[in-house]
Amino acid sequence: MTPRMAELRRSLEARRRELLASVHDRMRAMRDEHETNPVKGGMDDWEVSEVDIQEDIELGLIQMKAETLSRIDESIARLDAGVYGYCSSCGGEIAMSRLRALPFAVRCLECEAQDEMNRLRTRKGRDHSHYGDRSHLLDNPGN
Ligand SMILES: [Zn+2]
Repeated sequence: MTPRMAELRRSLEARRRELLASVHDRMRAMRDEHETNPVKGGMDDWEVSEVDIQEDIELGLIQMKAETLSRIDESIARLDAGVYGYCSSCGGEIAMSRLRALPFAVRCLECEAQDEMNRLRTRKGRDHSHYGDRSHLLDNPGN
């Protein structure tokens, strides 16, 4: 394992631990809430739905973190396979600073910028045809 890979692995594992801890904290907090308020029967309907919404938000957050966790697991597996940290477009090494900021980046900065340019160009083209549609309407002001 190269020093670069070792460092990437360390930072991925640190993120993984952090996420796991916060998922566990949230799950524990939700369980505690259920234990202090085990019966919803004492509340009126409005309060019950309020609690349900709160739980939906909590569950959504936990789900999001769980998804991030599985992406980190994937990244660690790719790192072990020796394919993590390389650009999927040009095959070059993705800069360390970029991977620290965006651990799931699959492209180097140059390829990402190129892709962004292409997207902007496509969007501009679409705007153009949209403008064309409007000028068509202006040709028939009687309607
Ligand atoms: Zn690239």
